[in-house]
Formats: sequence, C-alpha cells, structure tokens
Amino acid sequence: MPSTQKLSLTDPVQFIKGVGPKRAELLKRLALETAEDCLHLLPSRYEDRSQVRKIAELRAGELATVTGTILDSGILRLGRRRRLFEIVIEDESGLLHAKWFKFRDAYMAERFAPGLKVIISGKMTDNKYLGTGLEIVHPDIEILQDDEESQATSGQIIPVYPSTEGLNQKSLRQIMQNVVDNYIPLVEEFIPNDILTRHKLPQRRKAFQETHRPPVDQSVRDLERFRSAGQRRLIFEEFFLLQLSLALRHLQHETVEKGVAFKTRGPLIQRFVQHLPFELTGAQKKVLGNIMDDLERDQPMNRLLHGDVGSGKTMVALIALLTAIDNGYQGALMAPTELLAEQHFLSLKPFCEKLGLSIDLASSALTNAERDRVRSDLASGNIQLVVGTHSLIQKDVQFNKLGLVVIDEQHRFGVLQREALGKKGWQPHVLVMTATPIPRSLAMTLYGDMDICQLDEMPPGRLPITTRRFYENRREEAYSLIDGEIKKGRQAYIVCPLIDESEKVDLHTATEVFEGLRRQYPTWKIGLLHGRIKNEERQDMMRAFKEGTLQVLVATTIIEVGIDVPNATTILIEHAERFGLAQLHQLRGRVGRGQHHSHCLLVAHHPITPEAKRRLDAMVKSQDGFLIAEEDLNIRGPGDFMGTRQSGLPLLRIAHLIRDAEFIAPARKEAFALVEKDPDLSNPEHALLKQALLHYVGDRGDLASIL
Ligand code: ADP
Ligand code: MG
Repeated sequence: MPSTQKLSLTDPVQFIKGVGPKRAELLKRLALETAEDCLHLLPSRYEDRSQVRKIAELRAGELATVTGTILDSGILRLGRRRRLFEIVIEDESGLLHAKWFKFRDAYMAERFAPGLKVIISGKMTDNKYLGTGLEIVHPDIEILQDDEESQATSGQIIPVYPSTEGLNQKSLRQIMQNVVDNYIPLVEEFIPNDILTRHKLPQRRKAFQETHRPPVDQSVRDLERFRSAGQRRLIFEEFFLLQLSLALRHLQHETVEKGVAFKTRGPLIQRFVQHLPFELTGAQKKVLGNIMDDLERDQPMNRLLHGDVGSGKTMVALIALLTAIDNGYQGALMAPTELLAEQHFLSLKPFCEKLGLSIDLASSALTNAERDRVRSDLASGNIQLVVGTHSLIQKDVQFNKLGLVVIDEQHRFGVLQREALGKKGWQPHVLVMTATPIPRSLAMTLYGDMDICQLDEMPPGRLPITTRRFYENRREEAYSLIDGEIKKGRQAYIVCPLIDESEKVDLHTATEVFEGLRRQYPTWKIGLLHGRIKNEERQDMMRAFKEGTLQVLVATTIIEVGIDVPNATTILIEHAERFGLAQLHQLRGRVGRGQHHSHCLLVAHHPITPEAKRRLDAMVKSQDGFLIAEEDLNIRGPGDFMGTRQSGLPLLRIAHLIRDAEFIAPARKEAFALVEKDPDLSNPEHALLKQALLHYVGDRGDLASIL
C-alpha cells in the first residue's frame, strides 16, 4: 500500500484499503480496475435511514423504514403448493410482520435467524388474514451487522451499490467509503466553469462526494431518480465527453479531409427523372436537396439517411450516384449481404441500361476470371456504378475515381472504415442509409458525427398491412389465407428462424416447412432459400420470384432486408416469438410495397415469454417504425438496442440513454461550441479536459490521432 502522498486515481484497486487480491478479482467483475473506476460505480439506490420510524406510529399505505430485532422467522404453508416466508420484527414500540411469497427457502431461514438486527423498508399494509396490525410484503431488508453499524448509519442516507456475488453490501460499502475518503480529494475539475454555471452543476469533487455520501438534507426522491445535483453533474459530464469526441470527429471531416465538389442536376439526372415511372415524394425531394447541397461542397459528405422500410431510399441513392457519374466519377453501392447486393443490382440495372451506363455486381459468386475483369474495369473506370458488399472497399480493390459510396441498411459506417478509404487516397462522399428507426437521443449519440436526414413520408397509394398473430395450432388458417392470395395472383414469403445445429428444440425449420407445403399445396410453385444455397441458385430463385414464376418463397432471415417484390402481399413468420422487434418490423417491410392490401402473419409457438408477447402485441398494434423502436427500447433497454455495444460507442457508465436523454442536447451544444473555439483543445485552460477526454475514449485510437 502506497503512502498517502503517493495516492493516485489510477491506482489499481488492490491499493485501496480493505482490498486484497481476492476482492480485487471480485471488483474486476464489476469492471473496476482503478480507484477512479470505483468512483464511477454509483449507488444503484439509497436507503433512507434518516427517517427511521417507530412501528407503533405506522399506518397502512405508508412507505416507511424501521429497524428492529428478529423475534421469529420461518416458512408457513398456505396449502399444497403455496408457501410464504415470514419474519416477525420487534422494536421498542411494537411488532411488524414481513412476508415473502417468492423466496429461496434454505437461504432465507438461515439468513434471518432470530436475534439479528435488521433495517426494513417498504409499503405498510393491513394484515388481511388475521386483522392484527400491519405487515409488509416483499420489503427491502438488510441485516445490520452490529449495534455499532446501526448506530453509525442511523440518521443517514445510505448508498446501496450494485454488488457482485462474493462481495456483500457491507464490504462493498466499506471499500467505497475508503475510496471516497482517500481519493475524492485527488479529483480535479475539467469542465470549464462557465459551462457548469450555465447548467447549474456542482464541481466534480462535490458531485462524487454527494453521490456516494449524500448529505442528510438531500432529497432521497431525487437520488432515486438520478436527479440530485451531483448525479446530474456526473451524467452531464459523461455525455459532454461523448459529444466532445463526436464534435472533434465532425470537425475533422470538415477541415482535414478535402473531397470533390460536384455539379448537381447534370444531364444524366435530367434524363433519369424523365424516365421515372412515378413522381418523387415530397420527402424524397427534400432529402435529395440536403444531399445535393452536400455534394456541391468540397468536403466529403458524411450523411445518414433514415427512412422506414419501403420509404424509397433506393431511388434517393440512385439519384445521388448518378450525380457522381455525371461528374465523371464512379459510384459504389454497398449492402450488408450478398443477397441484398444482388437485389440492388437487379433493380438498378434496367435504369442504368436505359441511361447507357455500365453497372456491375462484385459478388463472391463470380468466377476468378470474372472477378479479375470486374477488378480491372473498376481500376480503369470502365465500370461506372458498382454494387457489392463491404468487400468493395476492402483489400486490394482499386477504383479509378471513386466519388460516392452509398451504404445501405448499415447501422454505422465507422470512422475506421472512413480511414480505410482515406488511406487509399480516396475521400469520397458517403451516404449511409438505414431503416432502423431510432429515437432522437440515440441518433445524437450513435450518429453524432454525421448529418442526419429523414424520409418521413411513404410513396403514395400504400395500403396498410394487416398484422395478425396465430398460435401454431391455427397455422392452417394462415396457410389458407396465403392460398387465397395466391389464387388472386399474389405471392408470399414464409420465413423460418435460422437453424442452429446445436439446438435440439423442435423448430419448424425452413426445409421441413418447405417439404410440408409441397405435399399440402402441390399446385403452389415454391422455392426454398437459405444461407447454404449456392450463389447462382439463389440468384436464379430470386429472379424467378421477382418475375412471378415462383409464388412462394420459404426462406430464413436472409430475406430480412432490402428485398423488393411489390407483388408479394403476404409474409408468414414462423416462430415469431423468437425474433426481435426490429427484425420483425424489417421482415414485415417485405410486403405492403405495391398497390395491393398486404398481410403479416405471425405464427407463435408455446411457450411464449412475456417479453415475446409484448413484441408480438406491438407488431399487431402498430406499423409505425418509430413507435416500434420505442417499444423495443422499453422492452430491451438501451444497451442491447441495436447492439450499441458493438457500434463503437464508448460505454456509458453513469448516464443512461433513455433515462437521461434530456441531457444529451445541452451537452452536445456545449461540446460543439467548445470545439468550434478550440478545435484541437490546445488552449491551456482545456489541458485537463483534453486529458479526461483521452482517458474517456481509452484505447480507441481514432481520436488520439486527432488530438
Ligand atoms: P426502402 O426505403 O425500404 O429501401 P425501396 O427503395 O426499396 O424502399 O422502395 C420501395 C418501393 O417503393 C420500390 O418498389 C420503389 O420502386 C417504390 N418507390 C420508391 N419511390 C417511389 C415513389 N416516389 N413513388 C412510388 N413508388 C416509389
Ligand atoms: Mg432498401
């Protein structure tokens, strides 16, 4: 253990008083490596021991905390299967019964032995059975180790930390006490004072102090809602650092990278628009306006286009790509899967042929000779528009003059990928398109370094999709509905979950469904599509489905994104309970693309979890991507939503994207304003801020190279 003078916030947790090697391991499970990390472990809730009451003075309906001694404890049988665990507690004024209907027996009885002192809080209710006084059901309860502790903590607001197995609350609290006592004095302020004043936020040291050791007059309600002054400061701080990193990246696009300024509305565009079979929607015109403004500047466009499934993003992409070609540059359209790349290729090809443009597909299905030809045509500029997967910008692919990259259905086009482009000497304009509806708070963090625009209007004439839920025993009804549609000349998708070989569950797999349907409906022309089908076969099958020679496509989720066959009016999703909400919404987006009424049939299999039920209910209730996304966030929580963890977003340790969404915009405004004044944080007043930022972004090297 180092002497006091040598303490540093970067001390490994073993240096903290009371932490040996074993506890250090346990702390690491909470992702706590250093003393500073520990400061960021905020209490998940608080116990208000400042208001300990006497049992005799409590009334039914009150939320209250009492301390007392356990007189008796044990399990009571209420019938053959129902049991409850009960504790009787006594203080100097009376008795209180505490009850649990859900409990782990052995553990409870041992833990709450008579004679122990406890502190217990919850809602008081009248004892229904006996009519004798008050009881408290499923209370918060904690054993007070000794009189000393109960003395020491009474009259205080006690932090309760998120604990980990093997480390009880008392030990954790003791460790944190030591951290608070020894390390908070080392904490330095790094947010400029004028910002703190504007937002009425306390200094950093005070914020940690008051969050870990709330003063008695602190409102416990505010603490529980994460809205005490100290907590607000720490939440703001985290968003501020995050937005600062995004502001720096945004600025880097603007200043460091020089791109090509295009002339817009050139001859190709004029001809193309004349040939369009429909009028562009108002929303398409609006976003094209944004995009054209970007393309006219010599800074590379860095824009996200968000539009719900079916809103017509592909047309927007094509017009942008034609602008690049009008200017003598090449365009690339990248899709996340081979299948989607092929579909894009097939739908863009007729337009390009009409315009006399050379378009090609870079696919892994190509023979070596074909691939070599595509490569050399890309390098020579013979190919003006290329469609492919991400492999397009990787490895040894060379372009002659790459002017615009459009990335479809991709959540995030990372800084690293952009760097990869830059390293090849390319600074193309980049347009990322996504149908994943995201609430604004998330957009500002996930895509905070991009300009964002939205297609908020659907092409005209779309009829709503009727969504229904079936249980498997009523699958026949769903099938006959499909049969009816087929007889009317429509087509259908039947989607089955991916087959995981290790899974022994009795799943309706694509192959089984396919075989079953062939027997049951011998007149249907059915195709079976899954990941293991060869590229050429897949292409043939998709072509047949597009042309209508196949009526039903039984497929795994490889059809999830991008497929566009307007005559397909029904999608049946087997094991719908296994899919996530965003995925179900994407899948449903495969229908409702034409002039005919469409159906989405969700076939659920028992057992179905409450969350799954909520997902299916949300699908039946709404077709609005934003409502669905919100519900998804509610069901899953933000960490999981869109795989935020993998998106390159630094982990938020304190702030919460939903709970604290209101802090994001102010933090963003301050961060962008600061970077505008001090673009590389070289002002000596920002030295500590710069250090904090580098620490915050950690080993993600991209920002370190900017600063
Ligand atoms: P997404 O945004 O899901 O990628 P698509 O670009 O695939 O949507 O468009 C869905 C369908 O709408 C396509 O069949 C497309 O041809 C059609 N479409 C696009 N724009 C319009 C429009 N302005 N008017 C009518 N139909 C349109
Ligand atoms: Mg699309």
